[in-house]
Amino acid sequence: MLRILVTGGAGFLGSHLCDRLIEAGHEVVCLDNFFTGRKANIVHRLGHPRFELMRWDVVDPFKIEVDRIYNLACPASPPHYQFNPIKTVKTSVMGAINALGLAKRVRARILQASTSEVYGDPAVHPQPESYWGHVNPVGRRACYDEGKRCAETLFFDYHRENGVDIRVARIFNTYGPRMLASDGRVVSNFIVQALRGEPITIYGDGSQTRSFCYVDDLVEGLIRLMEQTGVTGPVNLGNPEESTMRELADHVLRLTGSTSDLVFHPLPADDPRQRRPDIALAREALGWQPTVPLDEGLTRTIGYFRDLVGG
Ligand code: NAD
Ligand code: UDP
Repeated sequence: MLRILVTGGAGFLGSHLCDRLIEAGHEVVCLDNFFTGRKANIVHRLGHPRFELMRWDVVDPFKIEVDRIYNLACPASPPHYQFNPIKTVKTSVMGAINALGLAKRVRARILQASTSEVYGDPAVHPQPESYWGHVNPVGRRACYDEGKRCAETLFFDYHRENGVDIRVARIFNTYGPRMLASDGRVVSNFIVQALRGEPITIYGDGSQTRSFCYVDDLVEGLIRLMEQTGVTGPVNLGNPEESTMRELADHVLRLTGSTSDLVFHPLPADDPRQRRPDIALAREALGWQPTVPLDEGLTRTIGYFRDLVGG
């Protein structure tokens, strides 16, 4: 049994990770400031003898004796991370410094939830870990992209300078139950709109692509990376099945049986044109690859949102 800290543990990915770690017999401390996370995501764990909840902001230092740290605290959806961009940078950068300082002090292994956004609007497709990316450092997405890039830098400097045992996961678009209905990300937006019979909002002409990974697969990848020896990463974790946003809208309409219309809105600035992970490294080093096809993952996610918003 390990003592494991999950920052951002009340969020979408973090709460699924807490569940899996508790089910595996570990002791879990969930630290969250509830900016985008919710008690509802972890309420079923409150009172569990191996679960502890800490309301805390990672921008402020924290001290806990643990063996592992998963550093997930950071808003992930563009409307949320752009709501207070300076705070987003502080969360990524100061959160990483505080989590790494703790890892150094208590000799914990630490994993950073990095992102495909470090590749920006990629000129290389699909994206291997060796690609350095194409990020606008002064745009609206920079608070997130550059904050995450700086966090990666900090991880590797703490590793080289202080011997901290690090793991860096570059997570590509992940979806599933417990996303917020008001999250603003494309999968939750399309499903909620379809279920409510509201127009499906496509930004741009919908020809931009993303590759969507179901949450259970992603959590499995994070745990494998954490427990694998001899791999620091960065390692891409995502599903290489690529779709345009038009195709995603069609899938959602078909699977919900909705007759919602499509409406087209302007494409936000710096919105990446294409994104698909090269997961050769994850396959080879972790023996990991996604197992849940898009239709199946969407069906499960639609079931969750039906309970939440009706339709
Ligand atoms: P989320 O918004 O649901 O979860 C983020 C959690 O962090 C929330 O519970 C939030 O309250 C908490 N948080 C935010 N700022 C904090 C702070 N200053 N102090 C303490 N807690 C704070 O998002 P998610 O999709 O679960 O993402 C989790 C992590 O994975 C993030 O770091 C995100 O950047 C990364 N990631 C997610 C995806 C994805 O597609 N879901 C893709 C790439 C990277
Ligand atoms: N998008 C869209 N309609 C929406 C929300 C998003 O067409 O209601 C598009 C968005 O412009 C982007 C893609 O879907 O091209 C993925 O957006 P999301 O915010 O989910 O993730 P990210 O852009 O961070 O990959």
